[in-house]
Amino acid sequence: MMRQYELVERVQKYKPDVNEALLNKAYVYAMQKHGKQMRASGDPYISHPLEVAAILTEMRLDESTIAVALLHDTIEDTTATRAEIDELFGEDIGRLVEGLTKIKKLDLVTKRAKQAENLRKLLLAISDDVRVLLVKLADRLHNMRTLEHVPPEKRARIAEETMDIYAPLAGRMGMQDMREELEELAFKNINLEAYETVTGKLAELSERNRDLIHTIEDELSALFSHEGLKATVKGRQKKAYSVFRKMQSKSLSFEQLSDVFGFRIIVDTEADCYRALGIVHMRWSVVPGRFKDYISTPKQNDYRSIHTTIVGPSRQRVELQIRTSRMQDIAERGVAAHALYKDGSTGGEGLLSKDSRAYSWLRQTIEALSVGDNPEEFLEHTKLELFQDQVFCFTPKGQLIALPRGATPIDFAYAVHTDVGDTCVGAKINGRIMPLVTRLANGDEVEILRSGVQVPPPAWEEIVVTGKARAAIRRATKAAVRKQYSGLGMRILERTFNRAGKPLSRDGLKPVLHRLGQKDVEDMLAAVGRGEIVSEDVFKAVYPNHQETRVSPRKPADEGWFNLRSAAGLIFKLPGLSKSQKSTTTTRKIGPDPDMAAMPIRGMDDNAVVRFGPGGAVPGDRIVGILEPGAGITIYPIQSPGLTKFDDEPNRWIDIRWDIDENNKNRFPARILVTAINAPGTLAEVAQTIAASETNIQTLSMVRVAADFTEMLVDLQVWDLKHLNNLITQLKGLGSVSTVERVYE
Ligand code: MN
Repeated sequence: MMRQYELVERVQKYKPDVNEALLNKAYVYAMQKHGKQMRASGDPYISHPLEVAAILTEMRLDESTIAVALLHDTIEDTTATRAEIDELFGEDIGRLVEGLTKIKKLDLVTKRAKQAENLRKLLLAISDDVRVLLVKLADRLHNMRTLEHVPPEKRARIAEETMDIYAPLAGRMGMQDMREELEELAFKNINLEAYETVTGKLAELSERNRDLIHTIEDELSALFSHEGLKATVKGRQKKAYSVFRKMQSKSLSFEQLSDVFGFRIIVDTEADCYRALGIVHMRWSVVPGRFKDYISTPKQNDYRSIHTTIVGPSRQRVELQIRTSRMQDIAERGVAAHALYKDGSTGGEGLLSKDSRAYSWLRQTIEALSVGDNPEEFLEHTKLELFQDQVFCFTPKGQLIALPRGATPIDFAYAVHTDVGDTCVGAKINGRIMPLVTRLANGDEVEILRSGVQVPPPAWEEIVVTGKARAAIRRATKAAVRKQYSGLGMRILERTFNRAGKPLSRDGLKPVLHRLGQKDVEDMLAAVGRGEIVSEDVFKAVYPNHQETRVSPRKPADEGWFNLRSAAGLIFKLPGLSKSQKSTTTTRKIGPDPDMAAMPIRGMDDNAVVRFGPGGAVPGDRIVGILEPGAGITIYPIQSPGLTKFDDEPNRWIDIRWDIDENNKNRFPARILVTAINAPGTLAEVAQTIAASETNIQTLSMVRVAADFTEMLVDLQVWDLKHLNNLITQLKGLGSVSTVERVYE
């Protein structure tokens, strides 16, 4: 166990004027507060904050950060309070210790979606001071180093959390050493077998290639010194986890990995980096596509280095990293080292004080982390396979929604709330209106556009991937269809009862439900609407002693039109049906109720079951209805090729025409096929033109994608034919669009 005086000595090495009193006071306070508490290992508890502090001295952090490390568990685990710490150590330290307490209290659970969400919360909660994160990482590192003392069932959870959150966090903060160690420790605890296999193979390989590494080191060193360049060459073997990850992500076997070894060339100046690169490239051939200049373009975490791979001595592929010692320091210690350099001090006051340049840089890093500008990148260092089956998207308010890969905005809407899904009519992804069939990507911000009159189309069931959405769509569709049929059934019964001069009420139907084999009134009405129960039978059941032997249907008038209105608000007129059509169904087999054909000519304005054929139809189209036994009427434009299959069944054809006035507020479905150049932005251009014309996109699918063109099948909702034709003209006017055709089926 580290001793207090050793800790002070360590700090003194890089900060001679260390505030020794502060460190001693923090140590004594933590010691007293933790008292007789023990670690799982059996060590006195104080050993833990001391080790955490020691880890931070390796990063050469200032004494207030070290003091925070000593105090980091006191509020959470002892009688210490924020007020007390404020009073003894100042508000600054008090605030940091409280920040750490908050993180610990975040109830991190194993469910990954929750973890990612908590991570965001965590970062936001503490983003005003990066020192909290540094102490937290050191805390986690020490806990991982001593994980074997923790009960096995807790180990896996802590290891996974480390792999998912803390290791990538260290990486993003530029602390590669920390990241690697966290990964190695987590890997060992998550998948011991894989860890041991890879470690064993690496040891074997290193034994076998010991000479080779020395040869390459010597040869490179000799070359540089011959050219008069001062450089240190050091071979290093990759870590087990990074090798394992590469094997996983590229599906390579261990034997297929060419770059298990890497070499670092450390030089004095930036100019020397490029000189070294020139020397190496002139001597050996370069493996194409592997050269990266992170000196001229540093990574977001300020990592700088030149990477290249050569076919080096002994015809061996060799990965080289060329950098200055300062770049090396930043690569290993990241944020911590950066703080020192940016301030131009090596340990003055206010190493990470609020107004330092380093501080503002850190602040930006944290912001980048916390706003999730690129979660993809953030997740790139995580155990990829754990995330492969999920995408993380956000609501406009920043709520995180985890979905299975392949999920659409419809799935997203249902994940937010069933009501949101049921009323969803469109979606904006990252601010742009996109088709509901779009597959969501990590980090997408999704805004669901809703409409109160929407009923989820049954076709959605095929589009969605989540069970929740599928079940809800099925439920909503069923309910909507049942409502349509029961409304129709009610109309039919009303007429039958009226003709006999008898009143009809829902309550009056209840006593006969059992006899008709129905569960409830709604079910029975729907059965009447579907033609499964004849209205006369219902009447006879309710009034068994009624004297009239037959309830005769009223004679249909021959002029005029039915005026049907479906639940979707569509209005049509259709002429009275002929006798022959009526006579087709007089039995109770499934089929339209005979009463349906006897509907009054005028005043019938509700709840006929009407729907469109697959290609839709819009006012202005000449249309025809096809009677679907047991399922109402389907409307087709007369151009529909699909109509030919009804040629032999003339009694199913119903003449109908639109009965829509100019104040129509309904939209109607239509399908078009757009052929466009296959270029970036084409889809967006088409979608935007459609949106700009006040047209709804119901679905959009790429039916054919060739090298130079693409065909999109778009289901639209428009006011009428004029509206549709205007849109088609506009689409044809786009430079990227070659043809636009109406599709009638
Ligand atoms: Mn701790």
